[in-house]
Amino acid sequence: MSILDPLLERNQAFARTEAHRGLAPLPSHQVFVISCIDPRVDPAHILGVGPGDALVLRNAGGRVTDEVMAEIAFIAALTETMFGDDAPPFEVAVIHHTACGTGFLADEHFRRTFAARIDVEEAELAGTAVIDPVASVRDDVEKLLASPLVPDRVKASGHVYDVETGLVETVVAATVKAGR
Ligand SMILES: [Zn+2]
Repeated sequence: MSILDPLLERNQAFARTEAHRGLAPLPSHQVFVISCIDPRVDPAHILGVGPGDALVLRNAGGRVTDEVMAEIAFIAALTETMFGDDAPPFEVAVIHHTACGTGFLADEHFRRTFAARIDVEEAELAGTAVIDPVASVRDDVEKLLASPLVPDRVKASGHVYDVETGLVETVVAATVKAGR
């Protein structure tokens, strides 16, 4: 008996629904969601993202890291290759949330121990904690819009999910890159 078994049973049920049939590799909503790995904040639940609906990328905090930028650049390159100048515009929606576990990174002892464990500079980790999700999501949207990796046709927006109310509030409305 594996810990995964109950979920593999759900997979059997999923396959029986036929919901996987006829889906395209590109999403039906032109949205790329960045959110935290916290099990309470899965876009499939809080936004009702169904099969084939949206691109979703999750990491600790839902932070816009260099890896996240590279993924956005990959999708941009892919859609431009497939559609050329007709490549559909898409919106990158960054969602941070209240009571985020990355808050532990604000604790000096935890941060020092963890930095040593993964062999990175402690200062590098300090900025990744989501303590004030409104502020951090604003920072991350700004970072996205300033990145040369993010094409001009991409919009970015920032949102905060409240784990108490279950509601998502938009903090930064969809914005195109500066200078456009
Ligand atoms: Zn989190």
